[in-house]
Amino acid sequence: MRPFIALAASLLCVSAALSAPVHAHPVADDPATAHFLANEAVLIEAGETKILFDPLFTNSYNTYPLVDPQTKAALMAGEAPFDGIDAVFVSHVHGDHFDAEEMNAYLAAHRDVILVAPFQARLDMRQAAGWSETFEARLRIMPFVAEPQALSLAGGAIEVTAVHIPHAGGAQRAHIQNMAYRVTLNTEATVMHLGDATPDTPIYDTHAAHFEARRTDRAFPPYWLIGRWGGNETRARLNADEITGIHLPMLAPSWLSQTGEDYFTAPGQTRGLHPHSDD
Ligand SMILES: [Zn+2]
Repeated sequence: MRPFIALAASLLCVSAALSAPVHAHPVADDPATAHFLANEAVLIEAGETKILFDPLFTNSYNTYPLVDPQTKAALMAGEAPFDGIDAVFVSHVHGDHFDAEEMNAYLAAHRDVILVAPFQARLDMRQAAGWSETFEARLRIMPFVAEPQALSLAGGAIEVTAVHIPHAGGAQRAHIQNMAYRVTLNTEATVMHLGDATPDTPIYDTHAAHFEARRTDRAFPPYWLIGRWGGNETRARLNADEITGIHLPMLAPSWLSQTGEDYFTAPGQTRGLHPHSDD
């Protein structure tokens, strides 16, 4: 598999360099990287293109780690590595993923940032302190529909396809719109963030064509997908080269270390997004 992947990837890079002005940052000098903050908060950086998933939340439910105050302050202030963020993605509106007031404050402070979020996030933000009508132009709201959604941001430097995957927990959580985002940065690195996606498989079969449509370099599934399915089935279902589990509780489940799979467990951990360029 690897030589084929490397060849396909280098062809992609060559054609992108010839045709796409968005591909401003050389791949080899500037490999894409994922940085872990806490819970499901991840920064993805590819050259000068940067996105955040589920970065602003305030409720640990006494179970999940919060972003530490210094990191949160740097994020709100736009200090490195949180300078030049292009877009923030929210998977769903639970308090361990999203805080409407903090998001309002963030958008007020960072006037170029685009927010991609479920419609429930917009409803919450409009009710929360700090809302401004001027934010509307920077919101890319995902409707609560079954069909896959596509978005292009930052002049094509960020390509998004998203599907609604129900929240884990069954009927009790069915009213929550949980989005699974697949995002390609600078045409070079593709990541997937699934929020609190259910491990029940029928919805993944329903969206098989969506998952097959593009290979993901690294997916960040909630750890319970790996627990339920195992690593190989998780990679196969998501069509991902590599997976790193997220959303670990402070007390990690005992089976975790036995899976032999990769997880983000501590703030500051990073993972490369270029398995094909390591050859
Ligand atoms: Zn949730």
